[in-house]
Amino acid sequence: MTRIASHRGGTLEFGDSSPQGFAATARMALEEVEFDVHPTVDGAIIVHHDATLDRTTDRTGPIARLTRAEVQAATINYGAGGHPLLLSELCALYAGSPVDFRCEIKPDDAGRPYPDFVPRVVAELAQHGMLERTTFTSFLLESLDALSEATTRPCLWLVSPAVLRQLGTRAVIGLARRHNIPEIGVHIDTADAALMSAVTAAGIAFGCWAAHDAAQITKAFDLGVKVFTTDRPSLAIAIRDGTHKDQAA
Ligand code: FE
Repeated sequence: MTRIASHRGGTLEFGDSSPQGFAATARMALEEVEFDVHPTVDGAIIVHHDATLDRTTDRTGPIARLTRAEVQAATINYGAGGHPLLLSELCALYAGSPVDFRCEIKPDDAGRPYPDFVPRVVAELAQHGMLERTTFTSFLLESLDALSEATTRPCLWLVSPAVLRQLGTRAVIGLARRHNIPEIGVHIDTADAALMSAVTAAGIAFGCWAAHDAAQITKAFDLGVKVFTTDRPSLAIAIRDGTHKDQAA
């Protein structure tokens, strides 16, 4: 069965990385909740997509140069008045949920990995009992290398359309093997049966991200990818259940 991952708690349904989206996703009939993490200047770990607060909240500034209190004072746009969650708060939300974690390790606002961040994320998840229910993801091979040093939990490489185009399928597979990465995820619009069969024939699992409309979600199910992320988890569930009537929605 193709797994559904609610992307940032279902951004198009609940706002980007909002508490209401994460709370709703914890009660949905799907398999994973996707989220991104950043450190604050005073050592907290925040669940938020962007490295800064600028685009998605009423505050500004890079999370890594703000305190936990400053970040949590921000109100998320279209997020029902919610504030960015701590990773520990997200763990508490999912302690009693069957939905598993898909945790993306993000770089800073200049695109560089945060120094010594990965072991802290792993430790925090372990402390709150969620590490054994977490799959990690990153666009950055450097972060994936850090993950494989810090944990034996599964990791997957997010391969952007530009990287896939530049390197080609063979080089992507070669890099995945060299870095001991057991799974890759590509943008749904760059996925097709030929790419999926080349990747899986190499012993690497294959998934997709950014399947947000009905056509993209239906494509992911038709291909039979392992997992996909979507900003519209309720729509994905309805399509999987066969209760979604309007394929143009
Ligand atoms: Fe992400």
